[in-house]
Amino acid sequence: MVLDSGRHGHGEAVFCDVAIVGGGFAGTVLALHLVRGLGSGRIGIVEPRAELGSGLAYSATDEVHCINVTARQMGVSAQAEDRFIDWLEKWYPTLVGGGLGASQPSRTFVQRRWFGEFVRDRLGAALTGSKVKLEHHRTSAEDVRIVEGGLELILANGGKLHALCVVVATSHGVPALPSGFPAALGNAPGFIADPWQAQELKRIPPEADVLIIGTGLTMADVTGSLLANAHRGRIRALSRHGLLSRAASVATYPVALDFASWPQATVTVYLRRLRNEIALIEREGGSWRDVFTALRQRSADLWAKLSIQEKKRFMRHLKSFYDVHRYRMAPDLAGRVEAAREAGQVEVFAGRLRSARRDRGGFLVEIERRGSSEVVRWRCQTIVNCTGPRPDLRPDPSHFLGALITRGLAYPDPLGLGLTVARDGRVYGLSRNLFALGPLTREHFGDVVGAPEIAEQAQRLAGVLEETLGERCRGGTASERSGASSYFSRGSS
Ligand SMILES: Cc1cc2nc3c(=O)[nH]c(=O)nc-3n(C[C@H](O)[C@H](O)[C@H](O)COP(=O)(O)OP(=O)(O)OC[C@H]3O[C@@H](n4cnc5c(N)ncnc54)[C@H](O)[C@@H]3O)c2cc1C
Repeated sequence: MVLDSGRHGHGEAVFCDVAIVGGGFAGTVLALHLVRGLGSGRIGIVEPRAELGSGLAYSATDEVHCINVTARQMGVSAQAEDRFIDWLEKWYPTLVGGGLGASQPSRTFVQRRWFGEFVRDRLGAALTGSKVKLEHHRTSAEDVRIVEGGLELILANGGKLHALCVVVATSHGVPALPSGFPAALGNAPGFIADPWQAQELKRIPPEADVLIIGTGLTMADVTGSLLANAHRGRIRALSRHGLLSRAASVATYPVALDFASWPQATVTVYLRRLRNEIALIEREGGSWRDVFTALRQRSADLWAKLSIQEKKRFMRHLKSFYDVHRYRMAPDLAGRVEAAREAGQVEVFAGRLRSARRDRGGFLVEIERRGSSEVVRWRCQTIVNCTGPRPDLRPDPSHFLGALITRGLAYPDPLGLGLTVARDGRVYGLSRNLFALGPLTREHFGDVVGAPEIAEQAQRLAGVLEETLGERCRGGTASERSGASSYFSRGSS
C-alpha cells in the first residue's frame, strides 16, 4: 500500500532511506524495483500528481494519445509478470483484440493512460506483503541541502524530507518560450506555453487558425487533439527543419545489432554503417524501422563510444533526423495527421519565427522560410508552444533543477540535455548521495527516453542504491535504525 503523506504536519521533517523526486514513470518504476530489492526500509516519493506512475506521458486521457510502439514492446522489466501485453490481456482483453494482440496488431497501440495504470498495479503488487514502506508526498520539491550523512529536501507544502539518497526523476519542466517569441507575450491570451494543459487545448475555438511551434511528437499529439475536437481552422506547424515524425508500425523483422563490438569512430562512420545495415535488412524483407528498433534498444553502447565533440556534432547535424525516425507516431494518429495534411488543413513549414505581436485579438507572426531570405507574415488566433524540453536548466533557481545547480549539487551537461552523471547514475556535484534517472541523463546514457529503456535504467539504479544503502536497509525498519534517524534530526536543525 502506498501511504499518503497528508498526515505529516507543516514543517515536520520525515526520514526515509531513498527519496525520489518525481513519481512519474521513471521514479515509480525505480520505487517498484527498490521495493522488490530491499528487505525493508522507507522510500519517499515527492510527486504533486494524485497518482504515481503516469507522469506526463501516461496521464494523457485523450483517446488519440496512444503508445507509439505495440503493447508487446512495453513493460517494467524483462520478467514475465512485468509485461504490459499480458496484463492487458488479463484485465482489458477487448483493448487488444480479445485474444493475443498479434491477431489484431493494429489495435495493440493502446491509449497511453492504460500503461500508467499498469505501472501502478505492478507497484501495488510489489508492496503487498513487503516490509518496505512507500510514502507519497503529494507536493513538489523546491530545494535541497546537504546534511550530515545525506540530503534534505525542502517541499512546497512546507515539509522536509531527510534521505540518505535522493534520486532526481523529474524529467524536464515546461518548455522555454520559443526563440523569436517576445517574453512580454508569454501570458498573452491565445498563447499556450504548456502544450500538456489539455483544458487549454479544449478551449481553442474550432475555427481558430493555430500556429504550432515545433513539429515533433508533441505537435502530433496537439494536432490529434485538435482534430478529435472537430477543429475546423487551419493548423500550421513550424520547426527549423520542418520534419514530421514518421508513422510507427508493428515490428516485422527482428534485428540484433551488437554495437559493443563496433570500433570507436565518428558519427559519420556510424551513420554510414547504419545505412548499410538498413540496406541489408531491406534486401532481406525488413525495413529501416526494424533497424531503428534495434538501435533504440542498444543505443547507449554506441553513444558511449562517441567523444564529446562527436556527440555535439550529432546534436547539431543529425538529431532532428534521428528524432523523426526514432520517435514515431502511433499509426492511428499518423493517419489522422496525414489525412488533414492531404485535405490542406494541416501544413508543415521549415523556417524560424522572427517576431510575433498582438494583432486583432490574435497574433501577427513573421516567419523566415528555411533556405531563403523570404519572410512571410501569418495571422493566427492561437500559438501552441511544442518546442520540447527547456535546453538550459540554469536560469531558473526557483525550479528544482535550477536550485540543484545553484547550490553546486549538479551541473548541466555540455549538450544541454540534462545533468552530468556518472556511470552509476550519481550526479556530479557536492554530494555523493544524489542520483538522476530518465531523460535528464541522456548526455551520459544516450537515448533513455522510451519506457523500456528507462525501466532498464531504473532497475540498474535500484541495484546501485541497494548497494549504497547496504546493511542499513537490509537489517530492520527505519525506526529500528534510530542511529540514522537521529543523525538526520541533528543535521536538519
Ligand atoms: C507525450 C509523451 C508521450 C510519450 N509516449 C511514449 C510511448 O508511446 N512509448 C514510450 O516508450 N515512451 C513514450 N514517451 C517517453 C517516456 O515514456 C517518457 O518520457 C517517460 O515517461 C519519462 O519518465 P519520467 O519519469 O522521467 O518523466 P515523467 O513521467 O513526466 O515524470 C516526471 C514527474 O516529475 C514530477 N515533478 C517534476 N518536477 C517536480 C518537483 N520539483 N518535485 C516533485 N515532482 C516533480 C512531475 O509531476 C512528473 O510526474 C512519451 C513521452 C511523452 C512526453
